[in-house]
Amino acid sequence: MTAAPTPADAWATLREGNQRFVAGTMDHPSQSVQRRGELSTGQRPTAVILGCSDSRVAAEIIFDQGLGDMFVVRTAGQVLDTTVIGSIEYGIGILDIPLVVVLGHDSCGAVAAAVDALETGRMPTGFVRAIVDRVIPALLTRAVLPGEEPIAGGGGLPPADQLRREHVRSTVEMLVDYSSMLRERIEAGTAAVVGVEYTLADGTARLVDAVGEVGEEPLPRYVA
Ligand SMILES: [Zn+2]
Repeated sequence: MTAAPTPADAWATLREGNQRFVAGTMDHPSQSVQRRGELSTGQRPTAVILGCSDSRVAAEIIFDQGLGDMFVVRTAGQVLDTTVIGSIEYGIGILDIPLVVVLGHDSCGAVAAAVDALETGRMPTGFVRAIVDRVIPALLTRAVLPGEEPIAGGGGLPPADQLRREHVRSTVEMLVDYSSMLRERIEAGTAAVVGVEYTLADGTARLVDAVGEVGEEPLPRYVA
């Protein structure tokens, strides 16, 4: 049996897969009949992904992965609730996965709906409201609304992009705060959580946050 992958190994696998996807030179790994058969008796995925349900941000495709490679949870706006955290803890604690990726993206409808709710005072109806309820705290506590001054050293990003990035970072922070299992594994060096920002037009997945060692520095929060 080979040694368990480290969080940095897992991130390198995803980063390389995304580079193939961006370049249009995908390997389409783990999609053979043989692989399907091998997986019928067990799984050993490389990463847990908490991504947005948006149809344009299909996790396995953008990281050029296949069957058995990633344990994926998707909600609109990649928002957390207790069953989402339970799914992530299953991946970390039972499947021994070393990396959790919180995956946000540009033009996210959930972030736009939360901004709209704050600007107009009107909340969406039905259970869509539950999504917006879970995005608003990030916007209120960590960023600014369109029309306000950008956060100090916002890196020149327009406010909508800052909001989306802060929502990813806030979700990483919330997940680590909620999950003591995750914190213990991060402290032991056997797990890490990263925040990643996907860009629809060019397909890049950029590291914007990291808790634990993944072998790459995330984009700085504040640019001097
Ligand atoms: Zn989205």
